[in-house]
Amino acid sequence: MADLDTLPAFLETLDTEVRDAADWGEVAGYIPELARIDPAQFAISVVLADGRLMRAGQYAQRFSIQSISKVFSLACVLARFGESIWHRVGREPSGDRFDSILLLEQEHGRPRNPFINAGALVTTDELLAGRAPKEALSEIIDFIRTSAGDSDIHFDAEVAASETETGHRNRALAHYLLSFDNLRNPPELVLGTYFHQCAIEMTTDQLALAGRGIAGLADAPLKLSEVKRRRIAALMLTCGHYDGSGDFAFRTGLPGKSGVGGGILLAVPGRASVAIWSPGLNAWGNSRVGTEAAERLARFTGWSVFG
Ligand code: GLN
Repeated sequence: MADLDTLPAFLETLDTEVRDAADWGEVAGYIPELARIDPAQFAISVVLADGRLMRAGQYAQRFSIQSISKVFSLACVLARFGESIWHRVGREPSGDRFDSILLLEQEHGRPRNPFINAGALVTTDELLAGRAPKEALSEIIDFIRTSAGDSDIHFDAEVAASETETGHRNRALAHYLLSFDNLRNPPELVLGTYFHQCAIEMTTDQLALAGRGIAGLADAPLKLSEVKRRRIAALMLTCGHYDGSGDFAFRTGLPGKSGVGGGILLAVPGRASVAIWSPGLNAWGNSRVGTEAAERLARFTGWSVFG
């Protein structure tokens, strides 16, 4: 294990080295508002169990958390309804793209896991039970704000509008789920809620702080039960990076959740919560430089869920 007093210096070096390597990957082109972002950006924030916050790069820059929101919406659903969600969504890696429709037909409309889009639409549908979209969105953002201990976290209306206009694949997934009776609310309500939760914008500082509950840090303002926390982390490890989940687990040994905005939330159980952002993506739609940085951080610190 590295001496964590040397972590700030390591993060500074990491920031310099990733910028020098300049192999950023490509931004998500299918959401117009994200397609405009400069890929040559990087930030990392680490919150340790003792409360210290260490960071480097553009840690004050807000970015679109996109699919990282699926971790928080799942946590909200588990808190409100317990385990009933598993009748509607599986817990297996899909081995397929995040927006794939392929397995839905074979598996009769039950998505493989809550982190692929089809599964997240079902989670959002659950969150809408007895709630208007506005209330469901308040539930997610309040969960995030309380977890981060920061009320200055908001939706980016332009990103939400951009995806609402162009999100035909998600629209197809929602209707396909409905055809199997695995959607209870009108597809447009579910989609509108889902596009807004994906459009929450945060800095890496805010995201790392919001992840303290999932990492099981003692000073997390919003604590999850041990069972829920472990289960969410297990899903992050096995499904958090879609068809790149095996590679991510192999390289980092840590549960992580990515988003097409280029963010990664890493949970180091009992030790740290980490947020990384670099908007250029690899072939699986996960942050290219972010994955590299997560791997180097894990190697430097010796952090791994495998001991
Ligand atoms: N909002 C994005 C979508 O549904 C989220 C995908 C992602 O971050 N992988 O396509």
